[in-house]
Formats: sequence, C-alpha cells, structure tokens
Amino acid sequence: MNDIQTIFQAANPVLNQTPYPMMILNAEGIVVAWNRQAEKTFGYASEEIIGNFTPFIEKEKENFYKGLWQKIIHSVDSIQLDSMALHTKKGESMNVPIIFKSFTIENSRFVYCQFLLISAEQREIVSFNEFSSIREGLESSFMMLSIDQEGLITYANDLFLKYSNWTPKRIIGKSFWQMFPQAADGSSIADVIWKDLQNGKQWKGEVEKITKDGQSYWVDLIAIPIYTSAKVLSSFLTLENDITEKKRLQNRLEKIAYIDQETGLMNRYRLEQIVNKMISNNQHFTFVYFSIDKFYSLKELYDNQAEKIIFQEFTQRMKMYFQDSSMARVNINEFVVLTPLGEWFIQGFLTYLKQHPIYVNNTILPLSISGGITKYPDDQISFTHLMKASHATIQKVQAEGGGSIVSLTKADHKALHTKSIIEKRLLVALDKKDLKVLYQPQLDLKTGKITTVEALVRWDDEEIGTVAPDVLIPIAEETGLINDIGSFMLENACQQAAEWYKKGIDIKVSINSSVREFRDKNMVKQIRKILEETGCPAKLLRIEITEKFALEAEAEASIIKQMKQLQNDGISFVLDDFGTGYASFRYMQLLPLSQIKIDQTFVSSIQYQPKSQKLVQGIIQFVKSLNMRVLAEGVETQEQQDLLAEYDCDAIQGFHVSHPIEASEVEKLL
Ligand code: C2E
Ligand code: CA
Ligand code: CA
Repeated sequence: MNDIQTIFQAANPVLNQTPYPMMILNAEGIVVAWNRQAEKTFGYASEEIIGNFTPFIEKEKENFYKGLWQKIIHSVDSIQLDSMALHTKKGESMNVPIIFKSFTIENSRFVYCQFLLISAEQREIVSFNEFSSIREGLESSFMMLSIDQEGLITYANDLFLKYSNWTPKRIIGKSFWQMFPQAADGSSIADVIWKDLQNGKQWKGEVEKITKDGQSYWVDLIAIPIYTSAKVLSSFLTLENDITEKKRLQNRLEKIAYIDQETGLMNRYRLEQIVNKMISNNQHFTFVYFSIDKFYSLKELYDNQAEKIIFQEFTQRMKMYFQDSSMARVNINEFVVLTPLGEWFIQGFLTYLKQHPIYVNNTILPLSISGGITKYPDDQISFTHLMKASHATIQKVQAEGGGSIVSLTKADHKALHTKSIIEKRLLVALDKKDLKVLYQPQLDLKTGKITTVEALVRWDDEEIGTVAPDVLIPIAEETGLINDIGSFMLENACQQAAEWYKKGIDIKVSINSSVREFRDKNMVKQIRKILEETGCPAKLLRIEITEKFALEAEAEASIIKQMKQLQNDGISFVLDDFGTGYASFRYMQLLPLSQIKIDQTFVSSIQYQPKSQKLVQGIIQFVKSLNMRVLAEGVETQEQQDLLAEYDCDAIQGFHVSHPIEASEVEKLL
C-alpha cells in the first residue's frame, strides 16, 4: 500500500460524513476513494470499485468524457456538469449533476467528484426540514390545537392562546368542548365536529368559539384526524382563522338589509318587526315554524354545493305553496311563515313537498320537515313567546321522529307560560338566595344508625308559591340555571357537613348532580374550592348521579376524568334511581361508583308483588357482587324495611325513616 492510498484510507471516515455520494480519481481516471453514500446510490461496494476505472459511465459517452477529463484535470477552478449519464450496478441509468475539483497531493493530480444527489436519509432530513417550515408557516397564519383521543388539548400555538386568552399551562388538559359555547339544550357544534373526527373525517366550517372568559369569537375552522403510520387514528388537529369581523359585518348588513343573503327571504329581525307591528294592530295570524329535520346529517350526504340548492329549492316550494304569506329564514335550517290560512291547509304542505320533490345530483333529496303551528292571540301573545312555543312544538315533533306539522294543546301552552314565569322567578330566587335545603336521613340497616343525609332543594316563591323540585329541576337544566342551583346546594350541604363534623357528629351529605353541571369543566375546581372554604372533608361528600347522567358521562371522557379526580380526593359517587333508566353494565364498570340507589317504584311494590321481590333481591345481590353498597329509597312501611333487611340491603331512605327535614331536626334523630 503506497502513501497516497494510506492517506485516502485515513480520509474515509470524513468522506463518509458528506451528505453526497462522492469519489476521488487519480490522473489516470482510477478510483482511489468511494464513500458510503456512493455505495448506496450506485450499488457498488468500495472494494469492487477502488483501484479500477469507473465502471458506471455509459460506454457511448466515453469519448466525450475523455476531452472533458483533460479540461478538469488541469483546471484550477471547480467545474460543474449539469448532467452526466451514469448507471447503477443494477443497470438503472440516471442523470446526475456533478462537481469536479482537481487538486495535488505529493505532486500527483487527483480529481474530487461530488455527485449532487441526495441520499434517502438525507432526503428525509430535507423533507423533515421542509415539514417544519410548513408547520412554521401554519403556526404563523392559523390558530392551532392538537387534541388527543379523549378530546383533551395537548398543544396550543401562540396565536390560539392570544385569541382565546388561555395561558399555555392552563389550556393543556382542558377539553375541546370547553372552547365552544353551549346551546340551551346543552348540545354544541363541538359534538358534531367530534363525531366526524372520530369517524376519521375532516370537518370544515364557520363556528362560534369562546375565550377563557366566555367572550365569543368566530372562526373558519378545519379539524383534521391524524393517523399514525399504522393507519391508526392517533390525534386531531384544528386550524382556525379569525372571521369575527366578517361575521360582525355580515350581521350588521343583515340587520340593515333585513334580508337573508342565501334565500332572499326576510331575516329574523325583519320578522320580529313585522310580527310586532301586526300585534300592535291586533291583527290575528298563524305563526308557522318549519325545521328541516336532521339537517346536518342530510348535508353530509352531499357536497357543499348541495346546501345552497336545498335552501333555494325549499324556499321556492314554500313560496309556491304559501303564495302571498310573509316568510322568513330564522336559522340555518329553520323558517317561519305568517299566514291567515287554516291548519289543514298548512299541514298539506308536507304532501305538496312529496309531490314536488327536490333533486340533488339527480336523486330525490330525502327531506323531512317538522312544523309547529302557533296562533296569535289564542296561543301566545308576543314574538318571543311565539318563538319559544314554536321551539317547544318542533322539539316535541322531532322527539317523535319528525316529519309532521302539529300545534300544541291549550294545556301545553299553559305549561309553557308557567315555565316562563318560573324561569323569571328563579332568577330572583337565586339572587335573593330564596332557595333552601332540606335533609332526608338514610338509615344503615346493619348498625341501625343514620349515617348519611340526602340534600334536597326546596323553593317557596312569594308570588308563585311552592315549586316542587320535579318541576324546578328540568326547567333549571334547560335554562342553564341548574349550575347556580348546584353551587347553592353544594355550598350549603358542605357548610352543614362541616358544622356537624366540627361538633363531632359523624354524618355524610349526599347531593344530587346533573350531567350539565359536569359539562362545566371547572366542576372539579369548584367543588375543591367549596370544600376548602367550608372546611368540609372530602370524604363527607357524596354525589348522586342519575342513569341518564351515567349514559352521557360514558360517552364523554372528560366527565369520567373529572369524576375520577373527585373520587381520588375522597368523594364518592352514587347511582340514583337505579332501574328506571337505561341500566347498563358497561357504565357500572366504567364509572367510579360506590353505591347504587334502588328506585322507589321497585320498593313500593315489593310488599305485594313476588316478581318485584325477586327483582329487588336480584339487584341487591348483583350490586354487591360488584363490591358496591346498595340502598333502597322510598321506603314507607316497616314491612318494606324488614323485607329489604332480609334481602341484605345495606341502607334505606324514605318517609318511614323520615321525611326531608331541616338540619336542626336531623340532629334530634341521632
Ligand atoms: P330523588 O333524588 O330521587 O329524591 C328523592 C325524592 O323522593 C325526593 O323528592 C323525596 O322527597 C322523595 N321521597 C323521599 N322519601 C320518599 C318516600 O318514602 N315516598 C315517596 N313517595 N317519596 C319520597 P323531591 O325532594 O321532590 O325531589 C325530587 C327530585 O328532584 C329528586 O329525586 C332529584 O332528582 C331532584 N332534586 C331534588 N333536589 C335536587 C338538587 O338539589 N339538585 C338536583 N340536580 N336535583 C334535585
Ligand atoms: Ca337523589
Ligand atoms: Ca332517587
């Protein structure tokens, strides 16, 4: 081995580090160095090639290259060739740009040749770099969120934080839903987006969002499911652009123009004006409300263009059928017609739609319409109430499957009226803290002691009298006031439990909770705060949830997460009204429950019905096999108590033990 060879061999590790394939030739054109990238690219190992002529120059070009070679070897500057025809060991030909640079070592001339090809690994690095610059580009122009499989946020970029007012630390672990406002019924567009993502679909559209402090803003949103390389859904990404200004402008324009841009119908503001005018003229009319059923699923069947067609065609048919009546679009998929026409004629619209179907992409659109008929002044006497009654009617129709046009009964309208009064008075009650708490004791059948009391809300209003919880709670849930009732009850119950605790009285307090309260992602924080402020140990607090709650919690990972956090704190959960809902073994395993309450309907019949006896006995055994405690509620007689004790039930609650009573009365029973 001569000195020169030794030099090149020593240089090999360095040559291997260059990202490009390269070789070094001596003045005769013999290869003296051949790096690893060259091995990979051309398929020749260095042993085969060092000491030989380059075997990969295409034969027919050899003469041409000879002339070039002379030029290269004598040139001081480097020479670049845009394309040289080479072939790999496998015989594939490739055109490769090359740079040549000659140099001298110990009086011998050499040529350094660098093939300007990037190796596969190198390409990966480049595409990674490219990817990060794409990401940088996205980050600087979009608000961006990464979301995990449970719907919890794992990353938010600066723009997102800026708009939403969240701090980087706080937002991590918050749920995707928390970024959206909730509709009155507790639903949110987030549910629709989430469903698509779960199904591996993208979602695109304009949505309203809320900042940390509840301020609304509008964005153009794209939500994308992200797959791992194994095609497994791993996470989700949202990209958003602020369009609040555009929305504001649009709103302002709509208000000024009073026209719905898409259908040319009058908009909600104009409708309100017209209705108010008719009311002030005491002009009688029928307020007909139409809603396109399952609009979002319907839309899914088609492309974006279809949406426009659906609205325009539907409007066309409404105009044809109702002719001279006033018509408005009041919501995306909702319309109002003001007409003097009778009920039978209005209902005939559905038949008319069947006879004149809407075609999208040459197929008949499976359109289903729900309608509500409300009369002024017979049924309702203001625009707001006409709207509210219409919503209630549509809800009723849609709950029964949709596809019909109905009017509410007199009794329904009366109930709506009562409801709106209750809503108003409840606001006053919450403000004045007019609610109060009664406690109903639970008797432990093993020890014969009262160990827990259930906190039940009571409301006596000076204007409307006593409102039973059965009436109050559903209305409060619908209006969102349940959260205020919930915190009122929690505060009072914890205060009471702490007071007993300080007096050395060992008694737990059980409170009722609705799923809507747990949708508030601050629930855990709020409970912890109240426990701390009142000095109530967490182990003294029980939270009762219903089966409906359980069913929804099962579907929303963030609710279960919150429950588990509270359970870790020492709070226990009770499944209330067991047997009246959708008793599912799955959620009984999934949720952190420690006790089941058998509903009073079962208890009231055990004395006389052998079937109920068997059922209750079975439930008790089953619950115990899951290592949970079991309580029976609505126990009104000694016979019921005895039977339950015989069946090995742990505890009972009911009028036989005590009615719900004031806290001071509870102490007397101990
Ligand atoms: P619940 O949680 O099943 O509460 C038990 C209900 O049965 C109470 O009615 C109680 O007064 C009644 N009850 C107790 N023992 C007997 C008995 O031996 N026989 C009969 N026939 N009834 C008995 P209440 O207080 O009218 O509450 C009705 C429902 O309202 C409760 O049912 C609960 O679902 C809800 N509720 C009450 N307070 C609250 C609250 O603070 N928050 C929430 N979210 N819901 C509440
Ligand atoms: Ca309860
Ligand atoms: Ca119950």
